[in-house]
Amino acid sequence: MTLSRRSLLTASLALPACATMPKTTSAFVRPPLAPIRLDPQRITHITVCLRPFRAAGPRIEVETIGTKRVVHNYGHGGSGWSLSWGSAAIAARLAFEAGAMADGRRDIAVIGCGAIGITTALTLQRAGARVTIYAADRLPQTRSARATGTWSPDSRIADAAAVTPQFPVAWEAMARHSFAMHQSFVGTAGDPVVWSDRYTLINAGAPRPPRPPGAIDFADYGDRLHDIVPRFRTLSRAEHPFAQDNVRHGTSMQFNIAALGQRLMQDFLVEGGRIETMTFNAPADFARLAQPVIVNCTGYGARALMGDTSIVPVRGQIAWLAAQPEVHYGVYYRSVTVLPRSDGIVVQYVGDSDMWGYGVADETPDRGEAERAVATIAPLFAAAGA
Ligand SMILES: Cc1cc2nc3c(=O)[nH]c(=O)nc-3n(C[C@H](O)[C@H](O)[C@H](O)COP(=O)(O)OP(=O)(O)OC[C@H]3O[C@@H](n4cnc5c(N)ncnc54)[C@H](O)[C@@H]3O)c2cc1C
Repeated sequence: MTLSRRSLLTASLALPACATMPKTTSAFVRPPLAPIRLDPQRITHITVCLRPFRAAGPRIEVETIGTKRVVHNYGHGGSGWSLSWGSAAIAARLAFEAGAMADGRRDIAVIGCGAIGITTALTLQRAGARVTIYAADRLPQTRSARATGTWSPDSRIADAAAVTPQFPVAWEAMARHSFAMHQSFVGTAGDPVVWSDRYTLINAGAPRPPRPPGAIDFADYGDRLHDIVPRFRTLSRAEHPFAQDNVRHGTSMQFNIAALGQRLMQDFLVEGGRIETMTFNAPADFARLAQPVIVNCTGYGARALMGDTSIVPVRGQIAWLAAQPEVHYGVYYRSVTVLPRSDGIVVQYVGDSDMWGYGVADETPDRGEAERAVATIAPLFAAAGA
């Protein structure tokens, strides 16, 4: 499928309300779409990340280890950025209940400085705690910095068959709180969070791939947020510039992670937080910390640190193209997603199902996969000479 030069040029102009406009019942007519320049030569780098999937959902609970009260907050699958603030709120409440405030001591340690650690630290700090983060790596070096950057609160968050009956309700509360917090960053300096148009091009002729044997029944809770998350709808042929007949469109929340991570780190430090580089090899190492209460936000690292084999890696790779500030929409086509962020264009093969990458802990970049992903989407724009 190619997108003709004419249709792209037409699409890249803001059409005046005149007789040449196609007849449609909707006011939404061929929005300006700048072509995305998809060429393997434009790949600037390739990153790989592991989603820390737990069948039962994230571990957010208190455990006593030696003299420490440890609040675990890890295992957020493909939803860590999306759920971060909501999960942080639960962990912070547990940390305060665990006794930090009861005797007037306000010092709390947070281990980990990815999406979960930094939002947990900020939440604790804003509730009155004196917080120090201890981490082997901090943003932008953590796995969180290698995420796609989209609102995906139920992406590989749990196995629907393995969660408690209470989990969907708890998930919904986390997602709603997070959504409101993320929304408060929209329109702020550096655009850490924005809303972007998305086009899903459905390959009508392709047979639906069979469900892999033994596949997880990944939880799907999207309907619970129908009142706050904009819906997708199928466009008429006149409403989009693509050659496909089956095109769905919606507006989604997007995290420009470089800017968001920098903003969160800066807020934490400006508001009085401290960060120390430190690696923990076993839970016994927690005794090295002075704080009586510790929040453990070590993500996939918790598998080794806590010996928690309930965490399963789900590998995901991104090919990065140089940013195109004129592009403000994402595309999904033939199992490849493209998302134009301010720090680069994300091109990602996502497989036929969410089982893609399941159980794979290899974080070595695969250049062939990256080039195939770019090549899959490129024909949509090739005719425009992009
Ligand atoms: C390809 C891909 C795309 C994704 N896209 C999205 C998306 O679009 N939206 C979304 O919401 N989510 C997305 N995710 C999921 C998201 O990236 C994760 O859920 C999230 O990064 C988890 O954050 P975290 O803070 O728990 O872990 P991490 O970012 O891994 O942070 C863990 C922290 O703990 C520290 N640490 C670990 N072990 C130790 C130790 N032993 N001692 C000291 N410090 C330690 C690390 O140094 C680090 O600071 C994606 C994931 C992948 C793989």
